[in-house]
Amino acid sequence: MAARTRLMRRATARNVREAVRWMSSSEISDSDMRCRPSVSHKGSSSSSSDPGLRSVQWVFLGCPGVGKGTYASRLSRLVSVPHIATGDLVRDELASSGPLSKQLAEIVNQGHLVSDEIIINLLSKRLEDGVNKGESGFILDGFPRTTRQAEILGGVTEIDLVVNLRLREDILLTKCLGRRICSQCGGNFNVASIDIKGENGRPDIIMAPILPPEHCMSKLITRADDTREVVKERLRVYHEMSEPVEEFYRKRGKLLEFELPGGISESWPKLLQALKLNNLGEEQSAAA
Ligand SMILES: [Zn+2]
Repeated sequence: MAARTRLMRRATARNVREAVRWMSSSEISDSDMRCRPSVSHKGSSSSSSDPGLRSVQWVFLGCPGVGKGTYASRLSRLVSVPHIATGDLVRDELASSGPLSKQLAEIVNQGHLVSDEIIINLLSKRLEDGVNKGESGFILDGFPRTTRQAEILGGVTEIDLVVNLRLREDILLTKCLGRRICSQCGGNFNVASIDIKGENGRPDIIMAPILPPEHCMSKLITRADDTREVVKERLRVYHEMSEPVEEFYRKRGKLLEFELPGGISESWPKLLQALKLNNLGEEQSAAA
């Protein structure tokens, strides 16, 4: 199968080393990009008429609070590929006795940032393992965060599609400020109830709160860093970092902008439609 060969060809340790070395060597132009054999497009199966069978090598982008992890994991179940969050890879490696665990522990203990090289090493190992297990693709969450990471990733594997989840900033802020944690069981909830009248013929935006069961209600606390100022700053930093990454994939015709029209129940069917997966979604809900 084309997708399998494609994954195999790319996700090797040697590829990573080469990609990293190549990245560090000099500035790269787009034409250099096209000349590199391992970045060339070959036998892409994404035009397959059955979207359920095509390979999925996707990236999910979206600012904190937008629900990126939720949509990515739902989709990964629907199309039967793993949802790979780089944060999880780092945590898993730290908890294991893997080859990078000691080095990682040192970095994390000293409060340093984990380098691109280590992340991409963990990621390509994970992709290689996936190929060996017969996985037909992946949905990446939390990577790439910078254009340098996007360029390195391009040398390791081929990304078919980048979904950029967006939500109006004022709604995002309200949502972030509505987050609550149960101090007893640790459950995550959201007390924000969003009901905004649509303007200029656009539909209303309704997002129901995610309320806790009754026994948690009196134990809800707000995270110390969920203040208006901190959340605003977090969003500003995110946009500053992610815009070049969005531009990187936009220029390559791979960026799908998706404005969330509301909560999960409104957004999910529309997202499937945008991804041309709506038939698959219907089949699954009919079977459920
Ligand atoms: Zn609780």
